[in-house]
Amino acid sequence: MSGVMRRIPCPHCKRPTHVRKTIQITATCREVTCHCTNEQCGCVFVAEITPVRILSPSAIPDPGIFIPLSRHVDVDRVTDDLFKDVKRV
Ligand SMILES: [Zn+2]
Repeated sequence: MSGVMRRIPCPHCKRPTHVRKTIQITATCREVTCHCTNEQCGCVFVAEITPVRILSPSAIPDPGIFIPLSRHVDVDRVTDDLFKDVKRV
């Protein structure tokens, strides 16, 4: 998968959509209004974008945000990285 965000497909005809409007709902939830590009379909819908799990932790984490780590993340390695500058006693 490339680094470019893929378009959200229309739930009915599966064609790509254009995002026309986005609204931040909460710190971790954003609503996007999508318009189907298929003129014969014409579907307009609202989708939610919410981070559900972390694959690689932030180097500058916001303490007010909690998003679970993916079970594929090596927790011991992440913990070692987070506390590498803390002197152990
Ligand atoms: Zn459509």
